[in-house]
Amino acid sequence: MKVNYKSLEEKISFIPFGSQYYRPPTPPMREWEEDFKRFRILGFNTAKIWIQWRWVEPKEGSYLYSDFDRLFDLAEQYQIKIVVNTILCCVPEWVYAKYPDCRIKDINRHIVWESGYRAMQVGGWRCCWDHPEAAKLSLRFLKKLVIRYKNRQSLLAWDVWNEASLGFCSCDNTHKVFTQWLKTNFGSIGKVNEFLGRRYVTFDEIPLPSSEDDINYPLMYLTYDFRTDRLKEQIKWRVQIVKEIDPDTPVMTHTGSPLHIRDSDNWKNAKVVDFYGTSIHQWSNIYLNPERASIWTNFPLCLDSLFAISPYNWVSELAAGSAHYGLTSLKHVHFILPEDIRMRTWTCIAHGTKGLLYWQFKPERLGPEAPGWGLINLDGSSTSRAHEAKEAATFVNQWKDFLLNARPPEAQVGILWDPKISYVCLMAGVHLDTNLYLDAIRGAYQALWWRDMPCRIVTPEDEWDGLSAICLPFPIHLHDNVAEKITSFVKEGGLILSEGGLGSYDARVRYSSMIPPGELSQVFGIVETETAEWQKKEVDFTTKVVIGKLRENHKCKGSSFIHKIKAQTAEPIATFPDGSGALFKNSYGKGWAYYLATHPCIYAARKWDLSTNELIGAILCLNCDERLPRLKEKDGMINMRILEKDSEKMLFVFNHENVPKRITILTDAEHKVKVLRGENPEVKNGEIKGVVGGINLSVYYLC
Ligand SMILES: [Zn+2]
Repeated sequence: MKVNYKSLEEKISFIPFGSQYYRPPTPPMREWEEDFKRFRILGFNTAKIWIQWRWVEPKEGSYLYSDFDRLFDLAEQYQIKIVVNTILCCVPEWVYAKYPDCRIKDINRHIVWESGYRAMQVGGWRCCWDHPEAAKLSLRFLKKLVIRYKNRQSLLAWDVWNEASLGFCSCDNTHKVFTQWLKTNFGSIGKVNEFLGRRYVTFDEIPLPSSEDDINYPLMYLTYDFRTDRLKEQIKWRVQIVKEIDPDTPVMTHTGSPLHIRDSDNWKNAKVVDFYGTSIHQWSNIYLNPERASIWTNFPLCLDSLFAISPYNWVSELAAGSAHYGLTSLKHVHFILPEDIRMRTWTCIAHGTKGLLYWQFKPERLGPEAPGWGLINLDGSSTSRAHEAKEAATFVNQWKDFLLNARPPEAQVGILWDPKISYVCLMAGVHLDTNLYLDAIRGAYQALWWRDMPCRIVTPEDEWDGLSAICLPFPIHLHDNVAEKITSFVKEGGLILSEGGLGSYDARVRYSSMIPPGELSQVFGIVETETAEWQKKEVDFTTKVVIGKLRENHKCKGSSFIHKIKAQTAEPIATFPDGSGALFKNSYGKGWAYYLATHPCIYAARKWDLSTNELIGAILCLNCDERLPRLKEKDGMINMRILEKDSEKMLFVFNHENVPKRITILTDAEHKVKVLRGENPEVKNGEIKGVVGGINLSVYYLC
């Protein structure tokens, strides 16, 4: 079903840039025309709207479309494209009256009553789509909607699920579907029992867990896998309905977070849509926060993950104004500064996103989200945030031919993201620290970010071709096929850096009898000798050899666990204060395997520890070529991103510090340099020497 990259660019031959606009019932219709004029003034070409089931079909079979008809008319008059976000989650009352058993039952078997979720001022909450009749009714609504608007000239795309995820449901219908899923995946009760370590007689006896930390890890694990499969399936139903009626308009969905855990696997979901988007709400401002570095790296990590999910992608929601949670929680308001809009918007552009929509144009005025989000003021007057957005929109429109076809350079280093590790973390760490895995991923990512080293987020299913090194952050769960893939990657000349505890839980979620398991102990040349103990404090370690450009005696920190290790063929190249090995290096086949006896990725992510960052980056880049263009040296929070189209390049240099910084970019001398943003640099002997303003960026075009 997936449309290939090329044909999407042909279908959407511009960069959609604009904002979420209408989420009934706000803003009121009387303001729309003036607002669409303001869209044009800002250079915005696209508006996203929410079409909510219970708003349109409050009574079965009677559809109220007049507001949306008017909105489409105005969009056509002002040449604004419309993205329809279909919201089936707010189920009308009459559906519940007709089928009371379609209500969700939470994990504790309690019925979830519709009460109006914070984001849905029209009330309602989703029903269980495993209820066949309720599912049919929602798809019938979707069908009617697509028939009504498919021929509107302003229609740009169908976004079939807002922040797609499925909460837990333990109703009888879901249990029936789960049982069928088990039959399909295991074939016999014997095989399920072997996986679960139980002695069920029939499939029907196997329950859905009744608590998030069910004592049977394998059962909870299967439940996570089932839920993510089920979500993909239900997205597919919607896509099929839309495609049957309107085969020409692209169909997408967007996630709340690319590295989502628990109930959504974005890599699975992306297989059933034309392309993928994300919300990227970083609620707090970065530039008033002294911890800015460690908070900031979440943002580019989201964008690189989104690129891995869907090379053609959109940022579907970027916070345009402060987040509010009603007046009583004003102290929790997070201000969004113009600088936040500037640095976030341009970072999205620099990552090659093909569309960007703010959330939202005007401040909300109904419900707990009021008066949040607005890019402009309630009276229609502009803001300095809107001024930043206008500048970026103008640039994107002007450079659309380049940006549409440009891509980031090929990465040489990968970071393994395995959603199944997050399942195990949720279970095994549920009372401890549920963000260990995400922090470990972020720690590995920021080590590369700090070196401006492009990185690819890879999954066990992806091809790992073209990569010279892969990092395995917090790799506590491992399937045999991933172990084989790691082994042959190193054998063929690749470099692997693994944190400790590799494969602690095996494919059946049992604790492994040997860590690392099987052939991997030869790959790394070590074996763990004792069960690792949870550490509340960080732990120091020091390198004993030169690693890349790092001298010996480099001081680093790890956290969370210390793994006692016996070296077999590996050489200990860093030690803890007691002299025991903290980092091991082993040669295997044509490649190298590095094993850490603790978790510096987690530590570095939480503390923005540059020294630890540097060690992770130095190891991962040992096999990498230094490619041009690149920054000659790093002077603080300076970061460069590149977009390429054939021989043309666009360089985005970001200065996250609040004072101007001098930068030197090394290029190969044949390029002509044009300044697209920022001050004119000095260009000589293949070097671009310039100044980038505080909390600002410069853009250079090389051709
Ligand atoms: Zn259910």
